[in-house]
Amino acid sequence: TAAHLAAIDRAKGLNAFVAVTAEKALAMADASDARLARGEGGPLEGLPIGVKDLYATEGVHTQACSHILDGFKPAYESTVTANLWRDGAVMLGKLNMDEFAMGSSNETSYYGPVASPWLPPNFSPTQARAALADKGKRGLMAPGGSSGGSSSAVAAHLCLAATASDTGGSIRQPAALTGIVGIKPTYGRCSRWGMVAFASSLDQAGPLARTVRDAAIMLRSMAGPDPKDSTCSPSPVPDYEASVGRSVKGLTIGVPKEYRLEGMNPEIEALWAKGAEWLRAAGATIVDVSLPNTRHALPAYYIVAPAEASSNLARYDGVRYGLREPASEIVDLYQKTRASGFGPEVRRRLMIGTYVLSAGYYDAYYLRAQKIRTLIKRDFEIAFGNGVDAILTPATPSPAFAIGAMASADPVEMYLNDVFTVTVNMAGLPGLVTPAGLSADGLPLGLQLIGRPFDEETLFALGEAIE
Ligand code: GLN
Repeated sequence: TAAHLAAIDRAKGLNAFVAVTAEKALAMADASDARLARGEGGPLEGLPIGVKDLYATEGVHTQACSHILDGFKPAYESTVTANLWRDGAVMLGKLNMDEFAMGSSNETSYYGPVASPWLPPNFSPTQARAALADKGKRGLMAPGGSSGGSSSAVAAHLCLAATASDTGGSIRQPAALTGIVGIKPTYGRCSRWGMVAFASSLDQAGPLARTVRDAAIMLRSMAGPDPKDSTCSPSPVPDYEASVGRSVKGLTIGVPKEYRLEGMNPEIEALWAKGAEWLRAAGATIVDVSLPNTRHALPAYYIVAPAEASSNLARYDGVRYGLREPASEIVDLYQKTRASGFGPEVRRRLMIGTYVLSAGYYDAYYLRAQKIRTLIKRDFEIAFGNGVDAILTPATPSPAFAIGAMASADPVEMYLNDVFTVTVNMAGLPGLVTPAGLSADGLPLGLQLIGRPFDEETLFALGEAIE
């Protein structure tokens, strides 16, 4: 724990942590040592981890990296983090993220952008030092988002693993862009209690870690039934670590033709083919599958997610939490607080969400998007029904991009980053991303494996075969 705290201090330039709970961490580590000395201890005993700022941590900074939650310190602990402490893990602090988990680059955080520890091609150490010292981090590589603090911290060895969350790809895309492992489990595998809500029917907790085995160990502790979340599955959590290293011989892996996009990055396409080849060499059978509604997933996601966000974020009114702007009467208070408390990307989502839910538009947008969601789910059911055990796809449309490269562009360009990941959230399925190689520029590339509902075990077996 002390070594990790020192590493965090040396790597302040990455801006991965928004709060370091050093005193608490050392006390937790001492308590852990005491348990071990008594011959006790859980599966994560003494392991220092980071927590995305989305998770409520009792008495500790919890703001989803938004200005509107200024000073908020919850009086309770999220179920996922409570599960981690129950199993002996040590909290190092809270990790930076896109504001309310809206974004794909960690540039929408109120606390500023996070840099990836992977340096841009041809960057000299002097250039890197200057860029790291600069608040804007311009020129450095984005660690992906929204769990960019988590991915950067894990990739930079500032913590052994981290909690993250995935509404449309926020665990898997940052994993791919920083060369680490991330899994979004099946919707309902982890409790959402105490996790700041973005889009409740899509949000799911999950880990970021450096190996498939570490991710399996983390998920086993994070997951499990919770009476406080009615969407959380009552089924017991399997020993995921046991499936790491399990043979993949005889498994059938589907390769969906609809993921082969026009004008696709050739490096990504080549990596995808290589991934299929590796799994074939390991004894799996590769088959073509069709998921015909894939192209509707992204537009439907960008209706469903903002709609649910507009409802969830209505609670930030300046009365109950965090920021309160001075005002003479209540409506004025709401308006002033929300206008100054939310950043531009959040405001954009709230306007879209409120619009698509309004009378006269609900049927045309939200209801239609929900119907598309059913079709997307059915596509997967048909593929799995035909004997496919898992589906192999690219994780991201490109390798990591530089901070600032997309900031001024059309927001839709950023949304396109989610093209391979949102289908999985729309269908509620588990998806694992594992590092699979480097681009010509020396930047990490990942592959995604999509599984049957509650079959994370097959994904861990396959992920280990690729890793
Ligand atoms: N990038 C997507 C969005 O901005 C996904 C975010 C997430 O998974 N939390 O909505």
